[in-house]
Amino acid sequence: MTTATTKVRKKGPRDNGAPDYKQNLHPLMVKNYGTWAYHEFVKPGVLVYVAESGDKLWVVRAGSPRTMSVDKVRKICDIADRYAEGYLRFTSRANLEFSLAKEANIEPLIKAVNKELGFPVGGTGHSISNVTHTQGWLHCNLPGTDAAGSVKALMDELFEEFVNDDKLPMRVKIAASCCQINCGGQADLSINLQHHHPPRIKPEGVGICELPKVVAICPAAAIRPRAKDGTTTLEVVDEKCMYCGACHGQCPTMEIRDSETDTLSIWLGGKTSSTRKGPAFMRLAVWGLPNNPPRWPEVGEAVKKILSAYKQTGRKFERLGEWVERIGWKKFFELTGFPFTKYHIDTTEMARSTFNTSAQVRL
Ligand code: SF4
Ligand code: SF4
Repeated sequence: MTTATTKVRKKGPRDNGAPDYKQNLHPLMVKNYGTWAYHEFVKPGVLVYVAESGDKLWVVRAGSPRTMSVDKVRKICDIADRYAEGYLRFTSRANLEFSLAKEANIEPLIKAVNKELGFPVGGTGHSISNVTHTQGWLHCNLPGTDAAGSVKALMDELFEEFVNDDKLPMRVKIAASCCQINCGGQADLSINLQHHHPPRIKPEGVGICELPKVVAICPAAAIRPRAKDGTTTLEVVDEKCMYCGACHGQCPTMEIRDSETDTLSIWLGGKTSSTRKGPAFMRLAVWGLPNNPPRWPEVGEAVKKILSAYKQTGRKFERLGEWVERIGWKKFFELTGFPFTKYHIDTTEMARSTFNTSAQVRL
């Protein structure tokens, strides 16, 4: 009988995939993992989590502009080191959340966030969320507006709704997207840029693009190849185009953005959680607001009008979309005074020739 000597190879450190999230949790969070009894809202922007063991972990939440310099992020980390044992996370809506084991550090931390960073503390309970926005001009070649700039202007208008946690019937998540592809996703209230005509093709520039890919990317099958002067170019069937702008991402010479005609719209009732009635798509509420930098005042006014009507007639714990469904869209337009247009009619009867007829795609 022979015995084989096998060398046991020692595994190297794992260097790909998502890291183990537990290594970044606050030690109290790890200690009490899965045994948290309840949480309470202490005051706007401050929560306390209480474990079955009796341990308490405080969380201080602050709004952030999402797009920040390295210098600013270093300042945030410095504050986390001073008051939060170095534990900080960014939420999916770009809030800052500091985790603290020492209650006595809450007030100095809030002071530092306000004074050193200039950020408001809030965004908990029945408030508005930090307004999220899409990547915009930082990473994307499609933006028809400045998502970051318009969100800053809107947050200035809605400051009081962020730093108070009892003024609204329920929490309102707000998002902004700089094109109708809407990579900002669903939200209770979403502001989206819309184009209003098909892309303008520059035949001389189309040659730089991979034509089959451009044809394939159109969700409405509106692009087709065309022979012209011995070369192959593209054409758009205007009646089929729903002005989404996807082709512009694939072929930059198919320009669709237009500072004269692009407008902003407000959509309500999007929700990804399965609470109560389950996930829901947003519906068009306000159509055709001007894309008006640098402060987009018409958008701020429209959002405030919607929140004011929601405050007056919404029931406690009723999400914004649930409120509209309960009172009905007719009542919504009466309360807010926004015009009801042909673009609000939800129909798919023309879907064989154009997709620009449903309330999920309204341009
Ligand atoms: S919303 Fe559109 S333009 Fe804005 S980042 Fe997303 S894909 Fe790009
Ligand atoms: S804008 Fe959208 S629908 Fe129109 S041609 Fe381009 S990809 Fe197709």
